[in-house]
Amino acid sequence: MQRIVVLAGGIGGARFLRGLQSAAPEADITVIGNTGDDIHLFGLKICPDLDTVMYTLGGGIHEEQGWGRAGETFAVKEELAAYGVEPQWFGLGDRDVATHLVRTQMLGAGYPLSAVTEALCARWRPGVRLLPMTDDRVETHVAVEEGGERKALHFQEYWIRLRAGPDAQAVVPVGADQAEPAPGVLEAIAEADVVLFPPSNPVVSIGTILAVPGIREAIAEAGVPVVGLSPIVGDAPVRGMADKVLAAIGVRSTAAAVARHYGSGLLDGWLVDTVDAGAVDEVEEAGIRCRAVPLMMSDPEATARMASDALALAEEVRA
Ligand code: GDP
Ligand code: CA
Repeated sequence: MQRIVVLAGGIGGARFLRGLQSAAPEADITVIGNTGDDIHLFGLKICPDLDTVMYTLGGGIHEEQGWGRAGETFAVKEELAAYGVEPQWFGLGDRDVATHLVRTQMLGAGYPLSAVTEALCARWRPGVRLLPMTDDRVETHVAVEEGGERKALHFQEYWIRLRAGPDAQAVVPVGADQAEPAPGVLEAIAEADVVLFPPSNPVVSIGTILAVPGIREAIAEAGVPVVGLSPIVGDAPVRGMADKVLAAIGVRSTAAAVARHYGSGLLDGWLVDTVDAGAVDEVEEAGIRCRAVPLMMSDPEATARMASDALALAEEVRA
């Protein structure tokens, strides 16, 4: 049985994973999820990326939106607003609140996030082993200028309240340098046959996972093909603010620049969209095998083809 390890953020990671499951139904898939977007609000511990993967693979996701629960209502949010409770920019749905109550209660009882995630997944049966990158607290902060003042904001505040409007001057995964990989993370990488980077955000999703000491090294040393798919198509992110956070770390928003940013020390293969076929040579000159294929996850079939193409490229670099 093929053992596949996937580093995943939220929407991009989750949708790709669904394609991977249909392209490789027999594979044993371990997902290492980003927890740098996690935030404590209203006394609850919120893990947006883990939940997006869990709900998407478990059939509970709001399909069009890409995050949150299907059939969601917002009575709790309205009641909190009636009390004037801040922040009002974060919309936690009623169904979602139940997930967060379970998580927060278990964390309060002393269970690590990895055990809590496993417990939540017992309900959702995502068909993958979903591991948080770490059980330790890591929070991505974004430095911006607001009203002539330089401020560090939680990533969620930058993304949701400010809609990534101001330029990001720096992106810092606070706490990552002190964090340890969650139980099972390094073992899964060491036992993997292939490691995939879905088209997740290279800075605040995959970059944050790689910032946990030991994870990048384990991937580089695993001696198996590492293949990624570009989240940048036609020199812009397909959705989200990857361009803003790439600029903050001095990387251009092109498929080739993102591949070079990961580097040939980490990445063996890279898929770019057919509109970026002109970038293939630049990526290969950097020592990374590159192919141009359609990379829009417009429907389940197209997404499954992207996953097959990634696995095929992995076999090519293995040979
Ligand atoms: P988030 O945590 O919800 O932001 O999700 P991820 O980090 O997993 O994925 C976000 C990235 O997915 C963004 O940079 C998008 O450009 C990328 N993305 C979303 N949809 C597609 C798609 O259909 N094709 C490609 N190639 N990238 C996509
Ligand atoms: Ca995210």
